[in-house]
Parts: sequence; structure tokens; C-alpha cells
Amino acid sequence: MTLADQAPAAQQVTTHNPVDSEPVGHYPLAQGADVEDAVRRARAGATWWQNQGFAARRAHLLHWKSRIAAGAEELATLISAETGKPHGDALLEIMLTLGHLDWAAKNARRVLRRRKVSAGLINYNQHATVGYEPYGVVGVIGPWNYPLYTPMGSISYALAAGNAVVFKPSELTPGPAVWLAERWAEAVGHDVLVALTGDGATGAQLVRSVDKIAFTGSTATAKKVMSVAAEQLTPIVAECGGKDAMLVAADADLDSAADFVVFGAMGNAGQTCVGVERVYVVDTVRDDLVARVVERVERLRIDGPDPHYGPMTMPSQVDVVRDHVDDALRTGSAAFGGRDSVAGRVVGPVVVTDVAEDSAAVQHETFGPLVVINTVASLDEAVERANATVYGLGAAVFTKDKGAATRAADALRAGVVTINSVLGFAGVAALPFGGVKQSGFGRIHGADGLREFCAVKSVARQTRRAALNLLTMERTDKDMHTVARMIPMLHGRAKPPRN
Ligand code: NDP
Repeated sequence: MTLADQAPAAQQVTTHNPVDSEPVGHYPLAQGADVEDAVRRARAGATWWQNQGFAARRAHLLHWKSRIAAGAEELATLISAETGKPHGDALLEIMLTLGHLDWAAKNARRVLRRRKVSAGLINYNQHATVGYEPYGVVGVIGPWNYPLYTPMGSISYALAAGNAVVFKPSELTPGPAVWLAERWAEAVGHDVLVALTGDGATGAQLVRSVDKIAFTGSTATAKKVMSVAAEQLTPIVAECGGKDAMLVAADADLDSAADFVVFGAMGNAGQTCVGVERVYVVDTVRDDLVARVVERVERLRIDGPDPHYGPMTMPSQVDVVRDHVDDALRTGSAAFGGRDSVAGRVVGPVVVTDVAEDSAAVQHETFGPLVVINTVASLDEAVERANATVYGLGAAVFTKDKGAATRAADALRAGVVTINSVLGFAGVAALPFGGVKQSGFGRIHGADGLREFCAVKSVARQTRRAALNLLTMERTDKDMHTVARMIPMLHGRAKPPRN
């Protein structure tokens, strides 16, 4: 019998399989003292964990990784049951997640150990070093669309940096969080990773109690989280929504581009923060690309025993997708599907062309299997349009011209750009991930992701007395005369730039 079985229904979170609405699990609805208790336990865990040092933490993390790997089938079944995504997609999510955990465990020491920096000629008597210290307890608040990969992008790096973590999953998908914490308890123990199941109010309370917040979810909720975090100046990394565009140049491999449009837009039923929601294709190849996309979309299976994607995980998202399809069709033309595609929890793929740029379907996150394909005169125009939303998470460029691809990548206002693929970065653990503008700030993954979960501490150790006695009250007029001569010598010699 679990804690949730003993609690009254009002104090429980019950999850349902989006495929058949059958209950999957019951979890405690943590509130008030439960949240405080979870953070208190994690604080004790943090002290133990920090004292382990890099080498022991690496060994513990890799042992935990092997326990997760050993239970991958069971975990995939759980992810699939609560999100509705196909089992294969859940397994892929696990594989990507373990790659990041492995990288974080193996690279934390290299990235975070105290390092010497140059003190400069004038400060020859200072030994200068930079260290990265864990915050203590990191509160990780996760979404439901990738309930393992996404929060683990914060959890793995926060743990490897020496923090304890209290993980508050979405109320739609608490199962993987509890499962992960159970594997941690078996492999390591010491309350270093604590799962805290509950709802939005649980998350809001957690924000007040921890030393750092790693939030992944919608831009609207991120703003609420930030306003609460601001009360204590608690630092936050925010991974929010997106409206990613794919740019297709005239020389692009159109078969490959079409493959990736369909995978990026329809995979996971479009419920991917870095999914492809807009395509800007150069006019000379527009018809060819649309035909190739439609040909592939026609082959998608959305029902039967082996569908390409499942139902919408969050029931209310169906209404958002319907509104965006309606909105897109007001100015655009359906190349595949239409309003009838949004008939139930499983939404059929919809491809709409030539939609007004100021419409909701082009400006706001849809998070469903709808893609808008608009025509542009050049790659430069595509970049301009791609940049014209409040979001800036990911973007993709398809062209055979390396120079053009690099110029477009430089000009795109996004946290991550892929060239000739979509989501090509997801498994590259060394690449930091995060957004700009209203897609968020701060970075997870890679060396920047490890540093995100540390407070920087600088140490300057004086090794001998300075020749110039500047930092004492004993300095002389002669010392200051030398300083007055040094200023123009050191800093006054730069010539004006040539035009
Ligand atoms: P939400 O913003 O609705 O929720 C995210 C998390 O915040 C959930 O755990 C939620 O709990 C919790 N929460 C809700 N209200 C509060 C509050 N006031 N204080 C603290 N926590 C709160 O997002 P979704 O779960 O619907 O996820 C989808 C969104 O996530 C999309 O916009 C998507 O683009 C974005 N996303 C971004 C990613 C990125 O890396 N940039 C990756 C994946 C998704 P509960 O669910 O229990 O209410």
C-alpha cells in the first residue's frame, strides 16, 4: 500500500491514460508541511552529497544510471501510460536522457573544479582562482510532454554539480518522477533526490523553499514562478515554450526537409517545445516541398496498434489546437487535414499553407500536430519572419550552402539552431540548451548546464607584498604619482578604429 492509497481522494493526484482514460496511478497531493518536509530532507541529503566530492558523486550517478537502464522497459511503459505516447518514443526519451546523465556525471569535475585565472601583470602578487559551489537544494518543476528527458536535463546537471534536488513533476505525469526517486533510493539513498507529487500550488510553494529553481513549462507559468522567486531573489533557469521555424532554401534536399517537417511537426503529436510549427520555404521550391510533406503525412498512422503518435496528453490542449487550425484556415489553405482533424483526443495531422503572419497560428505556440508552410522570396526573408514572434527557442535551416546556413544561423534569434536536421542537438550532451526572449533564459545541458547549478566563488590570494602599496592606508604620494603615470601608459594608447 502506498502513501497515496491511505490519503483521502481530495489529497491525491490520480493519473489517467490518455489513450483509454483508464486510471494509471495515485500519488500524494503534497501541500503545506509536505513540501517543507521534502525540502528539509533534501537539505540533509545536500550536505551528505556535497561532502562526497566529484569522484564519489560520479560513481553514484553512474550506478543510478545503470539502475535506470535496467528498468528502461518498465519506465517506458509508465511514461507511455501517462502521456499516451507510443512505447518506442518513450524508449527513445530514456536513451537520450541517459546520455545526458552520463555526460554530466563524467564531466562535472573537469568543468567545475576550482581553476586558476590570470591575475594580470599589475596584480602579479595575487593568485586568482574561480570555484563553482552547489546552491544546496534545487527545485525542479517539470512539464508532461517529455516527463523524463526534460526535467532530467536539469536534474542530472544539478546533481552532478553537487546539489540535492526536489523534483515536482506535472500532475499529469508524476509516475516517472516517483520511479526515478525510487531507483535513486535503491542505488544511493540519503534523500538527495526527492520526488514531490502534487499540483501547481505544490510547485508554487516549492519555489519559496529552495535555493534555485529549474522550471520547464509554459511562458505564462514561468512568469508566475519568477514573480514568487523574486521575493527572495531565488535564481531561476526558465525553459519555456517556442514557435520554432524551419527555413528551406532553394538548394535544400527537399526529401530530407520534408522528412524532418513531418517528424518535427507531428512527432509526439506536436507536443514538443522545439517541434516545427512554422516552415518558411523559398518560392521556387514551395510546391515541391508541400507535395513531399503531404505525401509523407498521408502515410502517418494515428490509430491502430502501432500509431506514429498518440493522443493529446492534456485534454484542454485539443481546444487550443482547434482554435489555431480555425485561425490558420481563415487566411490559409489546407494542404492536408482541416477542422475535422480535431475531432477527439487524437488529433489528425494538419498542414496549412500561406497563413497570415499576424495570425495566432503563426504567432503563438500550438503544441499540436499542425504545421503552417509559408512562402518567402529568400532565406533572408525567412530569417526575418522566423524572428518575428515573441519566442526564441529553436530553429532549423535546410540548405546545401554552408556559408548561407552559417549566416542564417547567426541571424536567427534562437537558443539552438540545427542545420539540415531538426532536434539534431537533443542527444549532443555537450551542447547547452535554452531559449531567448519569451522562450526563457539560462541553460541546461553541457558545461553551461553544469555551471547553471552553481554559485561562482572567486578567491584572490595575496602571495607577497605588492611593490606599489595601493590597497593600504599607508600608500604614499610617490605611489599615487606612479599610478597617475601608469594610467595613460596602460590604457591610453588605443588608436581610433579605421572606417
Ligand atoms: P505548465 O506551465 O502548465 O506547467 C509546468 C509545470 O509548472 C508543471 O509541473 C505545473 O504543475 C507547474 N506549475 C503550474 N503552476 C505553477 C505555479 N504557479 N508555480 C509553480 N509551478 C507551477 O506547462 P505544461 O506542463 O503544460 O508544459 C507544456 C509547456 O512546457 C509548453 O509551453 C512547452 O513548450 C513547455 N516546454 C518547454 C521545454 C523547454 O525545454 N523549453 C521542454 C518541454 C516543454 P501542474 O502540471 O501540476 O499544474
